[in-house]
Amino acid sequence: MSNQLEVAASLAAVKARIGAACMAAGRDPSVVQLVAVSKRHTPERIRAAYAAGQRDFGENYVQELVEKAEALADLDEIRWHFVGHLQRNKVRHVLQVGAAIETVDSARLGAEIGRRSVAAGVTTSVFVQVNVGGEAQKSGCPPDTLPELLAALGGVEGVDVRGLMTVPPHTEDPEGARPFFQRLRLLAEGAALPELSMGMTHDLDVAVSEGATVVRVGTAIFGPRPG
Ligand SMILES: *Cc1c(COP(=O)(O)O)cnc(C)c1O
Repeated sequence: MSNQLEVAASLAAVKARIGAACMAAGRDPSVVQLVAVSKRHTPERIRAAYAAGQRDFGENYVQELVEKAEALADLDEIRWHFVGHLQRNKVRHVLQVGAAIETVDSARLGAEIGRRSVAAGVTTSVFVQVNVGGEAQKSGCPPDTLPELLAALGGVEGVDVRGLMTVPPHTEDPEGARPFFQRLRLLAEGAALPELSMGMTHDLDVAVSEGATVVRVGTAIFGPRPG
């Protein structure tokens, strides 16, 4: 039960942060979707967040996503978001749980999602992950090849490109992320894409002030990740 109260209180605090950032930016808070990133946390903690009204959850590892989706199949309104690096040979497992995929960074991955979605008679919502900081160790499409990738994905049946997603380079001061969020916003505007998935525990306030429509928050809701 304390689990329940703790998660509910943390969720409320995150929503208050989003609300305050929207207020300061003159934005409507109802257009900012909160994805609770539950990686490495137990299904019980996800249940606690669901009981407190949370419906969107994000996972990074395919097997963990599939196991949790099975364990929580009784939660009718749950929606899954895959936010980790995705290999083509695992696409079918992610589609099996009906997850939106926030990390498309190649035409080949997009084509596989399309092929499997059409076969399953569904349309999959995707975001294109952009490596705005140009960091060698990070996945994501480089900003200069984004137009090419978007053009390729535009022709793929079964795939609905909703917007762009990024994880900016880490800086001690969350303000350090601002230029990267601005860059993502300009790229999305240039491509007439409506959604911007950006902002995590550390920098969600800055992301919201730069126009995030999806924030992906783990630690501030569930606490530090075990192990
Ligand atoms: C883990 C993760 C998050 C959440 O990070 P926190 O700092 O715990 O809020 C968001 N996005 C992605 C892609 C992640 O891997």
